[in-house]
Amino acid sequence: MTTSPDFNDPSLPTIVVGHPAIINFRGEEVLVASGLLEEAIADLDRVESEMEKDTFSVESGKRFLRQIYEIVDRVGEGVAPGMSCHSGCSACCRVMVATTAGEASLIEDRMEKSGPEKQVVWKTEIEKRNALLENLARRQTPPSDLTTFKGLLETCEMYELENQPCPFLGGDRLCQIYEDRPLLCRICWVLTDPADCLPDAGPPVKFRTRVFEKAHALCGLLSRRHFGDHRVSPIPFWFQGDNERVG
Ligand code: SF4
Ligand code: SF4
Repeated sequence: MTTSPDFNDPSLPTIVVGHPAIINFRGEEVLVASGLLEEAIADLDRVESEMEKDTFSVESGKRFLRQIYEIVDRVGEGVAPGMSCHSGCSACCRVMVATTAGEASLIEDRMEKSGPEKQVVWKTEIEKRNALLENLARRQTPPSDLTTFKGLLETCEMYELENQPCPFLGGDRLCQIYEDRPLLCRICWVLTDPADCLPDAGPPVKFRTRVFEKAHALCGLLSRRHFGDHRVSPIPFWFQGDNERVG
């Protein structure tokens, strides 16, 4: 399961504007527009201070989450030319993506707006992924407990070897809920060869910045405060049984 990156790991590359240079797998220096990251941090600070003054309703939680997404996407657009990621490149969409209640709530809204036909397809795919996870958990000795984070993580590791696409990945290898995809899908920018993103290869080297770290922390905070839910679960888990309606 893709979980929060360890932003404090010194062995991971971090972007410092200008120096030291970050080189991608094509041998190009990754250029980051001056002020882009600083402005994004200042914007996230503003969102955070508005969150502090809020009454913590679900609706305002969704609004703040969209603002966080917009800020992160702006950084993503700014660095995209130097990254390996491109439209239709989707090996990264074959893992379980860790998602908070707020993020799941936006996905649920998207599903509702997309009409019954798509909902049926997505729900069928979601059920299949959940059934596979449960099967994999049962097959371990002793069986993994999917209600614990440890059990979930070890089962997701096995799941990734099954090479199953995310329930929302279209046949054209594009995300069908792109505007509402969760944060981890938005901050997954890779510097190494896309082939390193395949489940049995890699690991890929990812672009890191304090912007993503801060966005991630705010995302967790607002899910706890605005949605009253601290859980972090793979996307399909939010849409089964008791979790079927979130937000
Ligand atoms: S994370 Fe890897 S697989 Fe996904 S778009 Fe980027 S390079 Fe491609
Ligand atoms: S939500 Fe979209 S971007 Fe994220 S893993 Fe699924 S298909 Fe890929």
